[in-house]
Amino acid sequence: MSTIAALGRPAEILLVDDSKVDVMLTRKAFEREKLVVNLHHVENGVECLAFLRKQAKYLDVPTPDLILLDINMPVMDGHEVLTELLKDENLRHLPVVILTSSEDERDILAMYRLRCNAYLSKPVDANKFQEVIKLINAFWLTVVVLPRK
Ligand SMILES: [Mg+2]
Repeated sequence: MSTIAALGRPAEILLVDDSKVDVMLTRKAFEREKLVVNLHHVENGVECLAFLRKQAKYLDVPTPDLILLDINMPVMDGHEVLTELLKDENLRHLPVVILTSSEDERDILAMYRLRCNAYLSKPVDANKFQEVIKLINAFWLTVVVLPRK
């Protein structure tokens, strides 16, 4: 039993987000942190499920330690992704942190009802955003013990 950081390997994080700007900012924010993170990116829910199920072009990808999930995306949104994950015995153990610009109370409630592990609101301010990424690293990779499967 150990945290991801204690395993001595990079953390595998899957970022599901359709905003190219947000993906770039998130990637840069992770690069500024000390922990080594392999940040994988897909831009909608359909690609997310294909990645997690290692289908088509995702045959050789690792199973992520943590999923960072946006809500509003084309093709398949965050609600639908969580709904699918809950139904999938092979995937429902994966921790999902919602990282979204939505501050809609209905989204917050809906995501927790679909058993998201945390709901984070993306700060617009760059320094605050960096702090959120730092805290994600500190908590999810160095404090939390995640299942190994
Ligand atoms: Mg979006």
